[in-house]
Amino acid sequence: METSKSNALYNAAKKLIPGGVNSPVRACGSVGGKPVFIERGDKSHIYDVDGNTYIDYVLSYGPLILGHRPPQVIKALERVLAIGTSFGAPTALETELAQLVVDMVPSVDMIRMVNSGTEATMSAIRLARGYTGRDIIIKFDGCYHGHADTLLVTAGSGVATLGIPGSPGIPAAVVSNTLSLPYNDIEGFERLMAQKGDQVAGVIVEAVAGNMGMVQPKEGFLESLRKMTTKHGSVLIFDEVMTGFRVAQGSAQGYFKITPDLSCFGKIIGGGLPVGAYGGKRVIMDQIAPVGSVYQAGTLSGNPLAMAAGIATLTVLKDDAVYAELDQKTHRLIKGLQGAADDAKIPMKTGHIGSMAGFFFTERDVYNFEDAKTSDLNRFALFYQGMLKRGIYLAPSQFEACFVSLAHTNEDIDTTIEAARAVMADL
Ligand code: PLP
Repeated sequence: METSKSNALYNAAKKLIPGGVNSPVRACGSVGGKPVFIERGDKSHIYDVDGNTYIDYVLSYGPLILGHRPPQVIKALERVLAIGTSFGAPTALETELAQLVVDMVPSVDMIRMVNSGTEATMSAIRLARGYTGRDIIIKFDGCYHGHADTLLVTAGSGVATLGIPGSPGIPAAVVSNTLSLPYNDIEGFERLMAQKGDQVAGVIVEAVAGNMGMVQPKEGFLESLRKMTTKHGSVLIFDEVMTGFRVAQGSAQGYFKITPDLSCFGKIIGGGLPVGAYGGKRVIMDQIAPVGSVYQAGTLSGNPLAMAAGIATLTVLKDDAVYAELDQKTHRLIKGLQGAADDAKIPMKTGHIGSMAGFFFTERDVYNFEDAKTSDLNRFALFYQGMLKRGIYLAPSQFEACFVSLAHTNEDIDTTIEAARAVMADL
């Protein structure tokens, strides 16, 4: 595979940008390769600077549920470009996107736009603390909620890949009120709440975890979170930055029929532009400045380009049929991958909810981060490299999810399964 132009760009980038990348997982360190530099994307495909073509299952780590350059989004962006890129004053677009979210996710009465998922979770935590007057936050090992100091404790995503249990630069005092428990540990959670529940400001969770690979909640886990937080007056926060409008129209909370107090969004609500948002019950959201005293602000928050891309994307997703189609395609992919692994006698656990999917090279059922870490990472690295060479672009880490878009065709999926069969035969 020709990579000379990518390699030259990577060497130039490394001189100016730490590791040559603006987000660590892109460096491909854990799979022993170098990043390919992308020239353009179209529908389900991306094209690198050396002329290689890939079927893309990263989709910018989730936002591009319609695929690359969907005409609805491009047209909406062009309309905004004709009027200006940012005003620092309200536009109607912000209310339009807020209304779409409120209509599609019933737990959200009000919403505040920010610029990234990290800002959304960080702000939701501050709000939960301000609202309850308490300090303790409970999270779950392997869940990644962005890189805010308080939440970077036993986190997933790049932190899992790089093997950093938190990060230097975070004072112990800052995380002293963050407690982390194994994902799906209902008993441990109920015990902790029985001891400390009255001091717990909030419990934050990825309702389907996507940053330790994809891990689904066990039956009763989310129900237990809802029951115990209600009992102790703590705020239940669903981090739907990845799952929001991805696993179902009503997001993970709609899929599992659990109503959180606050939800965090990102990725899909920005339609490929930088956006985050947090929203929920009116009585809690009314605590945010300027109505309340919990401070949170942003120069570019509610940016018109980002709002327009989000509106165009959610408007497509208002049609239920879209989710049936995404589910069918993802099922075909995952069934095909599992079949390829079974035929090659390679232990593999696969799963998907809607168009969010994952696989682990392990014999163990994966319910938490410890289980996820039993995956054979050398085998993953070889699989990743083999798939890349055959034109299939996966995230360069075992601890990331895969995504399917509306632009993926059954032919794309079948090509991917054929590639997986060929790669697995050599593993
Ligand atoms: N929360 C979850 C569940 C995520 O997956 C991510 C990013 O992948 C974030 C928060 C942070 O979002 P951002 O990278 O936009 O800051």
